[in-house]
Amino acid sequence: MAFPIKVCAVCSEEFELKPGKPGFANRCPACSEPEETTPVAKRGMDADERTSQKEANEARRQAMRNLLYRKDS
Ligand SMILES: [Zn+2]
Repeated sequence: MAFPIKVCAVCSEEFELKPGKPGFANRCPACSEPEETTPVAKRGMDADERTSQKEANEARRQAMRNLLYRKDS
């Protein structure tokens, strides 16, 4: 059974317009998906970001300390 081929208005990918496809008819399934995943991904990124920022600060502090010690000795 063939479905009409459409070009996604968002990512320009061709996709089969299947009956009952959720979202816009001119968007591929991937681009039709509601942004439900965003909050979860964002929350995870925030935690990661905070961790990496803390690590970066720690590394910077350590580097500064090393630099100062090297200057002193
Ligand atoms: Zn798309």
